[in-house]
Amino acid sequence: MTAASSATATVHDPADLLAVARQQVLADGVGLSEQQLVDVLRLPDERVPELLELAHQVRMTWCGPEIEVEGIVSLKTGGCPEDCHFCSQSGQFESPVRAVWLNIPELVEAAKQTAATGATEFCIVAAVRGPDDRLMGQVRDGVAAIREAVDINIACSLGMLTQPQVDELAAMGVHRYNHNLEAARSYFPQVVTTHSWEERVDTCRMVRDAGMELCCGGLVGMGESVEQRAELAAQLAELEPDEVPLNFLNPRPGTPFGELPLMDGTDALRTIAAFRLAMPRTILRYAGGREITLGDLGTRDGLTGGINAVIVGNYLTTLGREPADDLALLSDLRMPVKELGKTL
Ligand code: SF4
Repeated sequence: MTAASSATATVHDPADLLAVARQQVLADGVGLSEQQLVDVLRLPDERVPELLELAHQVRMTWCGPEIEVEGIVSLKTGGCPEDCHFCSQSGQFESPVRAVWLNIPELVEAAKQTAATGATEFCIVAAVRGPDDRLMGQVRDGVAAIREAVDINIACSLGMLTQPQVDELAAMGVHRYNHNLEAARSYFPQVVTTHSWEERVDTCRMVRDAGMELCCGGLVGMGESVEQRAELAAQLAELEPDEVPLNFLNPRPGTPFGELPLMDGTDALRTIAAFRLAMPRTILRYAGGREITLGDLGTRDGLTGGINAVIVGNYLTTLGREPADDLALLSDLRMPVKELGKTL
């Protein structure tokens, strides 16, 4: 149970707020409510180190010291018919990403390289509204070929699904499915107009009900209010996802959000801690935008402020840090990489 209970308290004094969070989240394992999260996101800068320390203790207590490492590969890049305003893979904007398909041997090679970094998760991603028969066929062949060649958990992110597609992916042995809420329900219409927030939630619920692990996160720094950031965290908590990838907007040229400023680094750290305090037990993953938003020092602060999973290598349309750099940082922080077969 990660959602806040009705027994939660609301206080506006920063010291009291952190004391309440210490008891409620750290001791009792009950996530903060939406209003409490607004208060956390408004904590003054000088309280942020204390907030991060608490979020780190929560993560260590409820998840343990291990870090889950994942690699992602794009099976189909660009040319998506949807209009998510942050995304350079939309075919509706003048962004420089063209439609490209990967073949099965390339997919297997990417899975091998990911496994060689020590990662336990390999996520196959496609820029589509939802999979058609061609894509489902590619995924079926790809998953079978990877399972034959590499010992790694396979996740997929293929957009919105129908029930038969959910069932088919579960039968293939896909153990986790990613589908993000992207934004709070109240802000979603400012971010996407070609599908609804409710359609996203439907896919998430079907995935969970089919027994696959649910990976569901979002983006912050898209012009949303502090209240909407808290709303997103609370709505995610309600879905009880196994994993929450947290992205910071990396404004891509040619997209409607291409001119937005980068999120302030301290706000990004506040958000990481708030998400952890909303969801004490989830795998909270650094996803896109962390390098440009937080830099090396901030990346370290996030890892000791509630994050317990990373993506190694490149993202779908932007470059990440070298896997060796991330692995060295984890070793420096004495954070063991989760091994295959163990659950957090
Ligand atoms: S976020 Fe996904 S659905 Fe939206 S435009 Fe990009 S690839 Fe398409």
